[in-house]
Amino acid sequence: MPDRYAVFGNPIAHSRSPAIHAAFAAATGEDLCYEARLAAVDGFAAAIAEFIAAGGCGANVTVPFKEEAFRLSQRLSERAARAGAVNTLTFSKGEIAGDNTDGAGLVRDLVDNLAFPLAGRRILLLGAGGAARGVVVPLLAEGPASLDIANRSADKARQLAAACADLGCVQGGSFGELAGKSFDLVINATSASLVGDTLPLPAGLFAAKALAYDMMYGQGATPFLQWAKTAGAARQADGLGMLVEQAAEAFLLWRGRRPATAPVLRQLRAELGVSRQPTA
Ligand code: NDP
Repeated sequence: MPDRYAVFGNPIAHSRSPAIHAAFAAATGEDLCYEARLAAVDGFAAAIAEFIAAGGCGANVTVPFKEEAFRLSQRLSERAARAGAVNTLTFSKGEIAGDNTDGAGLVRDLVDNLAFPLAGRRILLLGAGGAARGVVVPLLAEGPASLDIANRSADKARQLAAACADLGCVQGGSFGELAGKSFDLVINATSASLVGDTLPLPAGLFAAKALAYDMMYGQGATPFLQWAKTAGAARQADGLGMLVEQAAEAFLLWRGRRPATAPVLRQLRAELGVSRQPTA
């Protein structure tokens, strides 16, 4: 019997994680199977318990269960503890261990795939939800000059910044408080465009040669990336690379080996009908 893994979410049918992990397993020769599992909104803990009882070795967790997965974890990595959110569970010797690979995936996509080193850069992170919380510690670990966090609910951004103030130069506030500032990297970690909204951002946010990065992805440029190009971002990148890299990080945790990501990323882009990073 192959070792069993799954991704839990609600909804989950759209998830690309089974295809990504199947490609990793094929490339590395690891004997595993990985499926997408829908959990009821009030049934996450029960779904995990059932999966463990059926021999599950590990799980990825997506919207809306990352905080519940954090609470369910009996042992947490430092990065998951700081994030207050878990996207990767490992079941071993009767224990549930929680980690968060989103930030490592983002950093690897930026630094390795996009050749955008973060040391000394001025970074703006838009959003203070689960995705934003998962990336703050790994971003600060790269030694940026500063990290500003801006969110619709400004208090959430301030709290997130305060919780990581010991790790670097980080501050939080509202979108309006960004007026007059400029950044080398602007990361969209909001879900505003899912509901058709644009963010009320001031002009002049992008410094020369700045990169706009949207954690969202889809066919072609996302609404945020389209806006970023008109607002002066020299480069734009979507979040498909982050998706593949966070999966590779989870695979490494579970199997002890890191799969090559470039072929899988190429394959996913081909399936989406975009052969390269979209330019707006
Ligand atoms: P959450 O629901 O936890 O957080 C949503 C965030 O978006 C909050 O900061 C919220 O602000 C903000 N927001 C929502 N609607 C609006 C709006 N209309 N105007 C302004 N701000 C808004 O979601 P996640 O953090 O889990 O996910 C955020 C995005 O990141 C999603 O698009 C998700 O698909 C993507 N993502 C991509 C990953 C990848 O691998 N590429 C991994 C993880 C996430 P407020 O606090 O005020 O409500």
